[in-house]
Amino acid sequence: MDHAAALERARLLLAEAPRVLVLTGAGISAESGVPTFRGPGGLWKEFRPEDLATPEAFARDPRLVWEWYGWRRGLVAACAPNAGHLALAHWMLGRAGVTLVTQNVDALHERAARTAATARGGDPSPALPIRLHGSIARVRCTRCDHGAEGDDPVDATARETLPACPACGALLRPDVVWFGEALPLPAMQRADAAAREADACLVVGTAGAVQPAAGYAMAVVRRRRPLVVVDPGPTAFDGMAEVKLTGSAGAVLPPLLG
Ligand code: NAD
Ligand code: ZN
Repeated sequence: MDHAAALERARLLLAEAPRVLVLTGAGISAESGVPTFRGPGGLWKEFRPEDLATPEAFARDPRLVWEWYGWRRGLVAACAPNAGHLALAHWMLGRAGVTLVTQNVDALHERAARTAATARGGDPSPALPIRLHGSIARVRCTRCDHGAEGDDPVDATARETLPACPACGALLRPDVVWFGEALPLPAMQRADAAAREADACLVVGTAGAVQPAAGYAMAVVRRRRPLVVVDPGPTAFDGMAEVKLTGSAGAVLPPLLG
């Protein structure tokens, strides 16, 4: 199948499916300028994310971890949703039955949902993602259950200047899931339910190395429903995809979903 035929086949599969599970990863934000962990620009001051995005790293050196998150927040704030995020948001607002599950913490799906909803004069909620890994635009307390939106600049010059909980005074932390931590149960339950009901699955920009996210797409395939993969590189899903569209999200999603 050439690319044009594959695109048409994928369009049809998604259009015919009453319920679609969409799973996205770091790749969908690459064209917005947010580095993927494994790609170029994924390192910060020689640290690997695996050594910073852990509860142990935060317990040992919260200043260092907050400094890294401050840098990442700044990166993301300077980025904007790309044509891929926007095509997906418009598609979700224009039809029923799509559930978006993301591993991204950059809030670009949320921003695309608001942009698309404003353009259409509607409500962004049908295009908001289920966030498996939290959001870097939120904070939560390390002691009590306080959590809030928050992406103000962080002063990480000393432990004393780090953000503190307004309720109990303990250190605040980024509201993201770190390596070795459990995922938020409500998000997992909603993603799981969507995977059990989906008539088709669309995977964009995830290598498929991180569980349980990859498992949601695989659960749809196990039920013999079609899978469409959009990614410029090889992924763990390629062998089970009904259609693999080799290309970037910004180039492929507008013609696929438009
Ligand atoms: P990954 O780094 O394992 O895989 C990224 C995938 O994106 C690769 O398959 C790559 O080929 C593909 N890709 C690269 N450019 C692309 C483009 N323009 N369009 C479409 N695809 C493209 O990412 P992952 O599977 O999401 O796992 C990484 C983990 O790191 C996740 O847990 C995630 O939470 C976290 N993370 C998040 C962000 C973010 O929020 N933007 C960024 C880095 C890492
Ligand atoms: Zn608290």
